[in-house]
Amino acid sequence: MTETCMSRRSFVKSTSALAALAAAGGSVLANQNPFGVTEARAAENDQDTVCWSACSTNCEGRCALRLHVKDNEVYWVETDNTGNDEFGNHQIRACQRGRSIRRWLNSPDRLQYPMKRVGERGSGQFERISWDEAIDTIASEYKRILSEYGPESIFIPYGTGVQACNIADFIPRLCVLNGGYLNRYGTYSSAQIAKALPYLYGKRAANSNSDIVNAELVVLFGENAAENRMSGGGAGYHLMEALERGHAKVIVIDPRYSDSAATRADEWIPIRPGTDAALVDALAYVLITEDLVDEEFLATYCIGYDESTMPESAKGKNASYKDYILGNGADKTAKTPAWASEITRIPQETIERLAREIGTAKPCAIYQGKGPQRRSNGEQTARAICMLPILTGNVGINGGNTGSDHDGYYLAWASVPMEDNPVETSISTFNWLNAIDHPTELTALADGVKGKDRLDVPIKFMWNYAGNCLTNQHGEIDRAHEILKDDTKCEFIVVWETFMTDSAKYADILLPDAMPQEQPTYNSNDYAGNMGYVILGEAATEPKFERRTLYSVLTDIAEKMGCKEAFTEGHDEMEWLEIIYNSMIEDGSPLPPFAEAWKSHIVKKADPDGHSVAFKDFREDPIANPLKTPSGKIEIYSEELAEIAGTWELDEADIIDPLPVYAPENGGYLNASEATPLQMTGYHFKGRTHSCYAPIDVLQQANRQQVWINPADAESRGIQTGDRVKITNAQGTTHMEARVTPRVMPGVVAAGQGAWYKGGADGTDEGGCINTLVSGHPSPLAKANPSHTILVEIAKA
Ligand code: SF4
Repeated sequence: MTETCMSRRSFVKSTSALAALAAAGGSVLANQNPFGVTEARAAENDQDTVCWSACSTNCEGRCALRLHVKDNEVYWVETDNTGNDEFGNHQIRACQRGRSIRRWLNSPDRLQYPMKRVGERGSGQFERISWDEAIDTIASEYKRILSEYGPESIFIPYGTGVQACNIADFIPRLCVLNGGYLNRYGTYSSAQIAKALPYLYGKRAANSNSDIVNAELVVLFGENAAENRMSGGGAGYHLMEALERGHAKVIVIDPRYSDSAATRADEWIPIRPGTDAALVDALAYVLITEDLVDEEFLATYCIGYDESTMPESAKGKNASYKDYILGNGADKTAKTPAWASEITRIPQETIERLAREIGTAKPCAIYQGKGPQRRSNGEQTARAICMLPILTGNVGINGGNTGSDHDGYYLAWASVPMEDNPVETSISTFNWLNAIDHPTELTALADGVKGKDRLDVPIKFMWNYAGNCLTNQHGEIDRAHEILKDDTKCEFIVVWETFMTDSAKYADILLPDAMPQEQPTYNSNDYAGNMGYVILGEAATEPKFERRTLYSVLTDIAEKMGCKEAFTEGHDEMEWLEIIYNSMIEDGSPLPPFAEAWKSHIVKKADPDGHSVAFKDFREDPIANPLKTPSGKIEIYSEELAEIAGTWELDEADIIDPLPVYAPENGGYLNASEATPLQMTGYHFKGRTHSCYAPIDVLQQANRQQVWINPADAESRGIQTGDRVKITNAQGTTHMEARVTPRVMPGVVAAGQGAWYKGGADGTDEGGCINTLVSGHPSPLAKANPSHTILVEIAKA
């Protein structure tokens, strides 16, 4: 079997030639290869060519793909076959999504040509144009908007459809050369936990997920790697291996009997959505009253547990954590299991037993997924869960954890080099729609604008690369449609995509992107436990039709902007890949020379420390290795948050508390009404990575888009499995198929997120897109998406 793909040089030559032909207005049909490469290859190779690449979507797996190519087509997909597949040198095997990638690569529905909008924005009406016209239009609109509104009007929305480190950041590089762009902070995935944990620990950090092998008890809050990170290199694999090797007891706390609960756990504890912190408060009550807390750890490493370690500004006010839990704080309410049972719907006895198990198992690993924090009170929940390992002294040791989400060993991560953005202003990632609609109303104290007291320039131009967050993945989709269709607000949107997503319909110029498997890529692991890895992907085939790589298109735009030389520095894509790779070696990454890595395409290395342990140094010597908090210790009571809570302008229902304790949700179960009596929660779905892979037929068939409803709720509504149901609230309406199952607790319905929005004539979504129902009101501290805080009613459609 021939083990060579497009050579480095032939990739650059063919993409340049295609660009030149396309820019000249020529059309290229799939069966009219302009270079004769197909014929040449067919003559050269009557057997397969096998090309290395990676699944580059945002499940955090980055699994290896070995693409079998014949006649310039990927016709079969395998995965990693290297090494001896031992723990720590295991194969990074792709899941059902990655293995279906040829149906994405070869889909007849892929975009083929550059297009311009001809109907109302969002109508989906486009007309084919030449690359010359596309580049001219983009460059002239970019120049006009820069000159009329300045660089703060330029925005790059969040988009994670392409995760290879060497591709997307060429957009900010181009922007920096033209005065900069409006920054954003946070993500749609983990903004609340990323914002909250530094107040507690100085940074967000966790033990390697493979370290579960050392635990006696594992408690997972909303963690569901068995469905969302199923790869051979990621969290799903490590959880399975660690449990098989370590034989820990595993308890999953989740409103839904997820596949993780079903296949990786000894016990499932269903919990009312948004109330995890109330459960933690009551667990703390039992731990404290039954003398199961680690007093020495709390006295040595923490401030704010009890009065003896409170900061000066909060002394003498009964404001400590212990005061709050035992009922001596401002609310005069003891956080007993009976109190929490009312809120969480977990029986009192279960709470008491769980507390005793956590208090006596050594070590005990407490992890949270990203679901509990992706809510309207997510920052409080994220910090509260961390209190369990803090109270029991399980931080900084093997087999314990911080209470945060997973982490792991990394070989190297780097991106496209660029100067600092000259624009210092930034907004939260979730707030971009408001920065289009009513920018001057956004302030630092009310909306988290950074670098300025008030935003004074609207977003007028957006570069949307491989992202479906303009509508589908954002939330408040109906409102997004209304704001985006008005092209006097955001005046120009350029979109790179592979399919006509709902976000792509809002493009003024829509460009057909080459997929990562059609270009050289650098892929780094994420959350990969005790084995770091890097995959250098090669172009398996030439881009077909008039598809082009991002870099080649940006190079043409840079030329029109007069900065081509500064943008490219004379390098082609392969040279940039090598530059980026070598920069990591210069930074000390233990990578082999580029030529060697390019030959094998995959580099793996076991963690020399076995499993990484967060804050190990701090645990060993807190004086020599202080945390990056103001006190250098774990700040159970945060003076910084007390200051923020006292100065920021918040809605009454939005809570920032200096203590990591329960705060009822804004839009949670207490706000349920006759019109919207059910809580709805989304989850990451086996059939998709966010909205990627959504149109792949085999995945749709194997993973039906359904809303789960408990038999008790279904019966009272006359709903049966297979019924088409209408799910509605003030944000919008979506239709889905029902699945009646006790796998979701009564009063709660659940559906996989990421299904593609399909707007009907009356504005109803026929695609089962849960974000149709999500509020645009951001969470209080991170100003982030409250994606799983939803109230709805369901009826037969
Ligand atoms: S979707 Fe994730 S787990 Fe599946 S192949 Fe891709 S990177 Fe791997």
